Parts: sequence; C-alpha cells; structure tokens
Amino acid sequence: MLLFTPGPTPVPESVRLAMATPTLHHRTPEFEAIFAETRALLFELFATDEVIMLASSGTGAMEAAVTNLCHDTLLSVNSGKFGERFGKIALASGLKNVEIKHEWNTPATVDEVVEAVKANPAIDALAIQISESAGGLRHPVEEIAKAVKAINPNIMIIADGITAMGVERINVEHIDCVLAGSQKALMLPPGLAMLGLSNAAIEKIGAGKGYYLNLASEIKKQKQNTTAYTAATTLIIGLKAILEEIKAKGGFGLLYCDTARRAKATRFALEALGLHSYPEVPARSMTTIDDENAKEIRDLLKTDFGVNVAGGQDHLKGKIFRINQMGLIETYEMVWVVNAVELALAKLGRRDFDGTASRVFNEEYFKSTLKKEEK
Ligand SMILES: *Cc1c(COP(=O)(O)O)cnc(C)c1O
Repeated sequence: MLLFTPGPTPVPESVRLAMATPTLHHRTPEFEAIFAETRALLFELFATDEVIMLASSGTGAMEAAVTNLCHDTLLSVNSGKFGERFGKIALASGLKNVEIKHEWNTPATVDEVVEAVKANPAIDALAIQISESAGGLRHPVEEIAKAVKAINPNIMIIADGITAMGVERINVEHIDCVLAGSQKALMLPPGLAMLGLSNAAIEKIGAGKGYYLNLASEIKKQKQNTTAYTAATTLIIGLKAILEEIKAKGGFGLLYCDTARRAKATRFALEALGLHSYPEVPARSMTTIDDENAKEIRDLLKTDFGVNVAGGQDHLKGKIFRINQMGLIETYEMVWVVNAVELALAKLGRRDFDGTASRVFNEEYFKSTLKKEEK
C-alpha cells in the first residue's frame, strides 16, 4: 500500500535503520554530539536565529508558541481545522482571541489582517498557517507578516509551517516563530516538533510561560546541546538521518524544486480528467480535489489500486480527497497515483480510461526534457 496522506508520510528505510540502533542515554557526550549536529542541520533548514526541538506532536509546538509569545490577544486566521486550533489554544490558555474566519478553500488577504490589527491595539501576536492542511491552501504569510510588522513591529508573527517547512523555502525575515512537525514534510514518525525563533521572539519570551512548554527553559538547555526534560532521542537520531539524506539527495533546493514540479504536474493531470482543485491558492504540500464522488474515489484507490490518500474533516468529510506531495517522493509513484485516480473514475462510469492522467503528468513534469524539435 502506498501511503499518500499529507501526514503521516512514509519514513525512508535509511531513517528507519538509523532509529533501530540501541537506545542512548540522553545526558551523555554521545547524544550531545548527535544533538549538536542535528541542531546545525536545523539551522540550515529554518534560517532563524534559534531552533528548538520539543518532544510533542505539532500541536504542542502550536501551544508553546501561543503561550510564550502572546500575552494579551491573539489574532488567528481560521481557514481550516488547524487555524481554528490556534484560537482554541489561546482561549484555553486564558488569552483573548480575535479570529478571521473563511471557508476552507479561501486564504486570508493582507488587507483584512491589516484592518484587524489596526482595529484592536491589544493584539500582540498573529498566528497563521503557511499551508493550511485542512483544505490544502497556501496563505500569503510572508506578505501578511511584512504588512503587520510595518504597523507594529512588536506584534509577534507565529507561522505554522508544519506542512510547509521542508516543502518550499520560507522567507522568515518578518516571521518570529515558525513551526515544523516530524510526521509531515520531515518524513519521520510522529512525536517531535520544532520551532524556529527570531531574536525578537526570544526577547519577548523572557522567563517563559508554563512548565513543560516553557520555551525559556528549552532555549537555555538547547544552546548547550541538551534538553530541559528527557529528549526524544530516537526521533532526534531520525531527524539527523533524514536531514542528511535530503542533503545527500541534492539538498533542500532540489527537494523544493522537485516538490513544486510534482505538485503542479499532479494538479494538471487531475484537472485534465475533469476534476476540480479545491483551494483557491493550492499549497505545494498536497493536491486537494473536491468531488461529489470523493469518498468512492478514495475507497477505490485503497481497495483496488493500493493507494492510501486522505479525505476531509468536519463539513468536508466525504467531499474532498488530499494527495500528499511532502517529502522525498519517487516520480513513478506519483504517476501511479494519478493513473489510479483515472482508473477509479472509469470504474465509477465517469469517463473512459485513456491514459490521460499519466500522459499529462509526464508531459508537465518532464517538459524541459521533452522539447519538440524545431521544424
Ligand atoms: C498536522 C498539523 C498540525 C498538528 O500537528 P499534530 O502533530 O497532529 O499535533 C498543525 N498544523 C498543521 C498545518 C498540520 O498539518
């Protein structure tokens, strides 16, 4: 079965093998050396002033970011389940929350965020997804961050990059905190979250908030290549292995380029079948299709063609399906996935099978090498 859900994503064999070594004690020079190397690799990926690893799923990093960086009112953008979660975290933490809410295919605009910030001087942090995984959309986070900082540089910009870090290069110039999670673009098992922080964020964190998710305690320890509490040693060993594997396969730049080409070719192939791309601005992390037969297509992909893709949640349950684009994905696997979607449509009597999906995918993905000869 091919796992093509936008998290969890498949763990490469080299990484699984690296994690199969005997457990190390976390307070040892051996583990500290691994921690230091992993930290250095994370600095390359994040390009932020500081990086922190947390033993938690991605939501733990969302909570740590909100509680440590927002002290009054959080402005959050809800264009899906994960944006909604930021607001819930703020309220559960005794903070105030102002929410900009959209349908799950609609990204936020710079203007509406600017308006919200101007209307409420108590807003001291903005939280937004770079890629909102609920409907597979891309918010214009970099532009929004720049505009908000121009109004008030003290407003902390929290960017959830859990399905964006490792997918595309993120310009963190105006971002104070960017989040990543192990089981999405980083192709690891679940359980490890990462935060990249700006110097301004570190200043605002001060003595930190909370206990386990107190970022001040972690910053202090992680600068010394250790953690405040027991480190997720096995996952950190895996993280080092996957970052080394990405570098060995040509580096982050090549990965970002390949992901963009693959995501575009997949969308073109599915649109050529008459299918509709759900988000107004698709993220590169996944290809999201809304369709009245979404459930039947997804079921057939699994039972007849050995492909596991994700469905939708809440009001989009049974209405969309989402195909992962994150990680080191073999081109031939994605060709099979779009071909399987075409076969599923034929089984449903929607259209005759004629190989359109794989042809369009290949033409788009390999177009630079398929240049027609000049007549
Ligand atoms: C998966 C995801 C999360 C939450 O991560 P968990 O590991 O499930 O806690 C947060 N934000 C986005 C954009 C995600 O895709």
